[in-house]
Amino acid sequence: MPANKTSNPQPKDLLAWYDRHRRRLPWRALPGQTADPYAVWLSEIMLQQTTVAAVKPYFERFLSRWPTVSALASADLDDVLTEWAGLGYYARARNLHACANIVTDEHDGVFPKAEDALLALPGIGPYTAAAITAIAFGRKAVVVDGNVERVMARLYAVEEPMPNVKGQLKTLAANLTTDERPGDYAQAVMDLGATVCTPKSPSCVLCPWQKPCLGHHLGIASELPRKAPKKERPTRRGICFWLTRSDGAILLHRRPTRGLLGGMMEIPSTPWRNSSWGKEEAKTHAPVNITQSKWRSLEGVVSHTFTHFHLELQVDAAPVANWRAKDIGQDKDFVWAHLDALGDFALPSVMRKVVKHALNVGY
Ligand code: SF4
Repeated sequence: MPANKTSNPQPKDLLAWYDRHRRRLPWRALPGQTADPYAVWLSEIMLQQTTVAAVKPYFERFLSRWPTVSALASADLDDVLTEWAGLGYYARARNLHACANIVTDEHDGVFPKAEDALLALPGIGPYTAAAITAIAFGRKAVVVDGNVERVMARLYAVEEPMPNVKGQLKTLAANLTTDERPGDYAQAVMDLGATVCTPKSPSCVLCPWQKPCLGHHLGIASELPRKAPKKERPTRRGICFWLTRSDGAILLHRRPTRGLLGGMMEIPSTPWRNSSWGKEEAKTHAPVNITQSKWRSLEGVVSHTFTHFHLELQVDAAPVANWRAKDIGQDKDFVWAHLDALGDFALPSVMRKVVKHALNVGY
């Protein structure tokens, strides 16, 4: 045992640090103010898988456009998806809208206080339920995100690799969670992880828990938590069809509601699969029947990385003269859009890249 390990970590030391160094965040109540459960929930959903810096402008736009949960519930889902575009993980936006409707219709527009009632709402998992319970309602709850896991692994020098060690880290976090100021304590551990106990180089000299921190004393803090070797992400491939009408409009398609990028708009494409596409074979998936000689393959590919795979999209372009509705089967999921109106559509980041690519190569 290191000679200078003198005590167990004390929540009160962290709370005292938090009172001096808390981050000012747009969704966070100032000292003495009461937290708004709607703002806490909205921010927590947005922050899943996304950084604070990326979330801030989205949060402010959402709150100004839909200032209450009931206002968000009565919004059109398409408008919500459009405002969300660029934030990624679009199932979150659909769940956000569904959750707002349930809170409005079944809970009179008031978020339930009990953690298990929160867990029953769409898009709210154990972490988010605990965060809302602690931050919005000031009730004791064990809030564990990546920041908290990192702090616990270092504080107690837990060397087993993630993700198998998650349960142990949660138990350690639970043992340390205090009845005193539960909302502040939850945010304090997160702030410590985000600003002091950072992933690559923790600033232990600034840390209120330096004295009891085993990882620091053993000189292994920056290596923790250890990670199991990552599985290689496969690369999937597809061909997008950049179809332009004589007035310059391009053809967009709405993806099925369920599944990846559900309900978002896209440049129509082949399915995405692990093997390459032959030109002829790919064209059987084109929404309009055009002779092969009219197609032009644009130079280069569009690359995008999702959580579980890399995607490479080739873009093939063709003009659509004399277009008639029946050419695309009068499918309501297809729409012609002018380039200057693309901002009105919920185009995910990968499809914005496709648009940029097509325009960059001068099509
Ligand atoms: Fe993290 Fe260092 Fe504080 Fe330990 S002493 S909790 S490693 S910042």
